[in-house]
Amino acid sequence: MFDALVVNKDADTGKTSAAVQQLSLDDLPDAEVTVAVEYSTVNYKDGLCVGPGGGLVRHYPHIPGIDFAGTVEASSDDRYAPGDKVVLTGWRVGEAHWGGYSQKARVKADWLVPLPKGLDTRQAMAVGTAGFTAMLAVMALEDHGLKPGQGPVLVTGAAGGVGSVATAILANLGYEVAGVTGRPETSAYLASLGATQIVPREDLNETTKRPLEGETWAGCIDAVGGDMLARVLGQMKYGASVAAVGLAGGAGLPATVIPFLLRGVNLLGIDSVMQPYDNRLRAWERIATDLPMDKLESMVKPATLSDLPQLGADILKGQVQGRVVVDVN
Ligand code: NDP
Repeated sequence: MFDALVVNKDADTGKTSAAVQQLSLDDLPDAEVTVAVEYSTVNYKDGLCVGPGGGLVRHYPHIPGIDFAGTVEASSDDRYAPGDKVVLTGWRVGEAHWGGYSQKARVKADWLVPLPKGLDTRQAMAVGTAGFTAMLAVMALEDHGLKPGQGPVLVTGAAGGVGSVATAILANLGYEVAGVTGRPETSAYLASLGATQIVPREDLNETTKRPLEGETWAGCIDAVGGDMLARVLGQMKYGASVAAVGLAGGAGLPATVIPFLLRGVNLLGIDSVMQPYDNRLRAWERIATDLPMDKLESMVKPATLSDLPQLGADILKGQVQGRVVVDVN
């Protein structure tokens, strides 16, 4: 028997409720690899899946947790053997499939990656989908020509999970980082991660009738979307790129095409969920080398399975700072 955070849905009211329950290995879905989970984490999507589901969860009872890291316990796939350390992010695990808020998980071998050299399972979950996505965004900006010395790189939702890791990676790589936050009290934290400029959220969350403003940002990693992304597009330097990662501020994009046509601005979509295996390995290797572990540690808040219902609600309200690491044992 083992513990898991199980979300049940009341057939009459349609309301969901999450609680720690005991399950047996026979309760787990059929798949090739059984993992003894050590750590998981809390992303925005986890907030949705611990709560009402946000349209992501198909069947109840459900075990959320879009990320986990642990040790292989049994495997019918040649690529993995008992004792191997592994990481999982994405593939709709924790949404359409049972996830990592559990002491055991059973998943497809294709969904796993070996634990990257230089990281332990706890550090891998301090990174999690949020940090992995931040790395993908940095890689996309670099692939489109971003180099240190071209000017400030804007990170929106800077005190959140994606934003915190993006800030620390960019600063470590020698970029000048400007962090947008709606929480002025996080300024010292953002400065400790390497941000040299704090932009108040109010400065950017209103639409403007002007499709172009002053050329300010050499690049942008945007976790917010909505009005803020529309505004930022008009402030990019000539030929610069914005990596669109999230929608914490809204899924709309009330923009014009003028920044694309007159300034050659690029809008790059970033998806972490279906990312091909080779690029996953490349991103994890880059994380192990480019994200300073002391900065990562300073972002971490520890938690247990029973803390998750509250943390899920908090992250949906934008109230989680940095990264939560869940010790499921
Ligand atoms: P967090 O909640 O940790 O961070 C989001 C941050 O956005 C908040 O901390 C806050 O930062 C800011 N924010 C929240 N609400 C608003 C608002 N209404 N207007 C402006 N800013 C706001 O979430 P994550 O970092 O885990 O995820 C960020 C986004 O990225 C989410 O939308 C998530 O779904 C998406 N995502 C996408 C992935 C992909 O594959 N494309 C993978 C991972 C995440 P502050 O307090 O500093 O203002």
